[in-house]
Amino acid sequence: MPELPAPCLLCRGERAERADGAIRCARCGWRFGDAPDPDLPPPRVDVVYYLRWRDRIKIGTTANPRQRLAAIRHEELLAFERGDRTLEHSRHIEFAELRLGGEWFAAADPLVTHASRLRGDREPWDSYLRWFATDLAAITG
Ligand SMILES: [Zn+2]
Repeated sequence: MPELPAPCLLCRGERAERADGAIRCARCGWRFGDAPDPDLPPPRVDVVYYLRWRDRIKIGTTANPRQRLAAIRHEELLAFERGDRTLEHSRHIEFAELRLGGEWFAAADPLVTHASRLRGDREPWDSYLRWFATDLAAITG
């Protein structure tokens, strides 16, 4: 994989990919050479997160995942899924038979498989960066 001429302005990634006729950051997809407008507020990206602690998984939602995850004891971030309270609520219902209380669920199937499918072959934070970069590009124009 070739390298970007300079680190990505959004995520400091260094690997390059060619997509949609442009040189992009292979991690977040930001187009090399574009600069985010510092006067624009950053896009709001709501996510549902799947956090494992021992044999439990917490399904929650936030628009500030770094801050939120830092406040929750966990061993592993399994996956992010794009969505807000509506999606979170439907996942709580979908996996209700595994529910241990509050937002915590037993780390068992079908929930583990669901999180694994969401993750695919991309690190959860890379997926988040990609959603953020896509939305930022849309408002940057
Ligand atoms: Zn990047």
